[in-house]
Order: sequence, then C-alpha cells, then structure tokens
Amino acid sequence: MIMQNDRPLIYLDNAATAPMPREVRDAMEPYLSEMYGNPSAVYRFAGESMKAVRHSRDIIAGVIGALPEEIYFTSGGTESDNWALFGVCEARGFKDCHIITTQIEHHAVINTCKRLERLGVRVTYLPVSSDGLVDPADVQKAISPDTVLISVMAANNEIGTIEPVSEIGKIARERNILFHTDAVQAFGHIPVDVGAMNIDMLSASAHKIGGPKGIGLMYVRKGLDIYPFLHGGKQERGRRSGTLNVPGIVGFGAAAELAHKNMAEDAVYVSSLRDHMISRISEEIPDAKLNGNLSLRLPGNVSFCFKGMESETMVILLDRAGICASGGSACSSGATEPSHVLLAIGRTTDEANGSLRFTMDKQNTIEEIDLTVDTIKTIINEHRI
Ligand code: PLP
Repeated sequence: MIMQNDRPLIYLDNAATAPMPREVRDAMEPYLSEMYGNPSAVYRFAGESMKAVRHSRDIIAGVIGALPEEIYFTSGGTESDNWALFGVCEARGFKDCHIITTQIEHHAVINTCKRLERLGVRVTYLPVSSDGLVDPADVQKAISPDTVLISVMAANNEIGTIEPVSEIGKIARERNILFHTDAVQAFGHIPVDVGAMNIDMLSASAHKIGGPKGIGLMYVRKGLDIYPFLHGGKQERGRRSGTLNVPGIVGFGAAAELAHKNMAEDAVYVSSLRDHMISRISEEIPDAKLNGNLSLRLPGNVSFCFKGMESETMVILLDRAGICASGGSACSSGATEPSHVLLAIGRTTDEANGSLRFTMDKQNTIEEIDLTVDTIKTIINEHRI
C-alpha cells in the first residue's frame, strides 16, 4: 500500500499506467541481475535470455490469437503506432498514399499522421458520434483508390469507448486495404483476436497491464509489406533493430499471462466499480455529463465533464485528498488545450476543460470509489463558479 500524508493513496489513473503485480517483478528479477546475456549472442548463456524472450513472445501471441513470429517487440505503444503508419507509407515511397483514421486517436497516431501529411500523404480524420463511436459506414465512404491504410483504435484512452474493430476490419479486408488498430488500452483488458477481427497490425504496451514501462509490441500479419522504422543490427528478423529489452519483454510476458488468465473475472469486478461510480456521479452531481458510450466501454473507465469546474483545479484538489485522477486537458508550455477527443464528441471548450477521467483496476475497492465520489462532491460544492 502506498501512503501519502499518512493516508493510503487512492490510485484511479490505471489507464495512464498500472501498478506492477509482484509476480511480474519476480519474473523479471533474474534478467535484471544474473541472466544478463545479450539474446543475440551465440553462446549458451545468452541462449537462456533468448529462451525467455521466446517464452514471452509465445504467451503474448496467444493473447491476441497471433503466431509468435508475428510479434515484434518495440519500446511501447508510441513507437508501434509510428512504425505502423510510417512503415506502410514508406514501403510505398510516401506516394499515392491515403490513410483513414479518426479524430479521437491517441496523439501517437494523430501526430504521426500530421508528420506524414508533410511528406505528401493524404489523411482523412473521421468524425465520431456523440458517444465516441466510429461509424463503419463512414470508413467505407472514405475509401478511395489510393487508400493504403485504415487505422482505428480498439478502445479510446480518454472516454473508454470500444470501437467496432471487427466491422472495420471486415471492410478493410474486403477492399484489400491494410488495417491497423491501436490496442494499447484494449490489450489484456478486453478480448482481441487478430484473425477473427481481420487486423493486419496492432499496437500494445506493457505498462498498461502491469508490465514495465518502455516495452511494447507490434503485431504484423505474416507476409505483410511494411518498412522497418528503426534501422541497425537487424534484430527482430530485420524489422526492428536494437538490442532486445530482455527484462522488459519477460515482464510484458508475465503481465500478459496474468491479464489474460484473469480477464473475464477482472472485467466483471472492475466494471462493477465503474458502474457504481457512474451511477453515483450521475445521480448526485447536477450537470455532470458522462463522456463515451455507456455499454461499449472499457471495464475500468469513468469520464465526466463537470459544469463550471476546471480539470486542473480538480486534479490538484483530489491530489491533496490523496486521490490520483487525470484531467481531460493536455498541458503544454503553459497553455491548456482542451482534449481533442472531448471536442470531437461535441463537448464545448468550457465543458472539455472541466473533465475528469478515473480509471480503475482490480486493486481498487468500492470504499475507494465512494470516498472519491464524496470528495468530488465536496470540491464541486466549494469551487463551482
Ligand atoms: N495509444 C494509446 C491509446 C494510449 O493510451 C497510449 C498511452 O497512453 C499510447 C498509445 C502510447 O503508449 P506508450 O506509453 O507505451 O508509448
């Protein structure tokens, strides 16, 4: 238990990063100490590191129904998203390339698309409904003869909406267009099957499921034509150079195994916390607006806009009360920008600036949720303009 000002910390920011279970730390430990061999070396000692990498690759492939050789380890979700988009366009010389994506993607996708636009790639950013859903018919309509890639996230990191990935995958396959999904928030939390969903590329990240930070993966369907993003010593079958992060990979494998094994049970428990928080806030706080779809929603996501409030103030006041939550605005160089996701679902700038996201995990309790709701009510009563 983490203590802050003599109080147990209430951690409700699991979508930012999740705590590491002891089993994951224990699995990694030997590879941070005595098992330090470089897995690319040929002697038997290093072979032990490669064996551990292989084991993790097998586990992770199993979680999404992929083949082990279709999994490439990266430094995280950001790199995987960059690679998917750049890799497809560079393989085509950045010419006659059109990408279809959405207005609510993570910045790892949106900002990569902006960069690609400067290199001559055409990008369509599809709008979403007021509860954050992409309409597969809009995807269908946006396809043109130069469309090379569709990139739609599996679940949104801010508002938790689960996107119709299977339908979009089906459209992409029928039209012979590659389909990438950013599954950073979905992997290990909700079922994802790359075969059944016609996914060609998928990004995931270990630290969102209790693995270490700085390790992620990209699934690339066998036989797919994609250019490497990092060049060097040709690790990962020449597609992702750089010495393998063995402790990270082992931790990712251990976290994926735990998450996969307990997925159904954890989802039931965590969504009960989520639903309790959503109903209490909706019933007890006037003018609180839920962001995202009520049922097509990640088990641990609660996102609200609170009228007449500022996210930053609320996050600071919650922090003083020992509660970790996230505001819906991105703070960069002193300027507060409203969330592009909240604007895309039709919230006004004022509404978007008064948003909070709480993301729970299996270590949270109903008592923590109740205490958090009571604290939000007090803050709003005292500070609403
Ligand atoms: N994509 C989504 C949907 C995310 O939520 C995040 C992280 O918050 C990322 C990508 C980036 O992942 P990473 O932190 O591993 O670079």
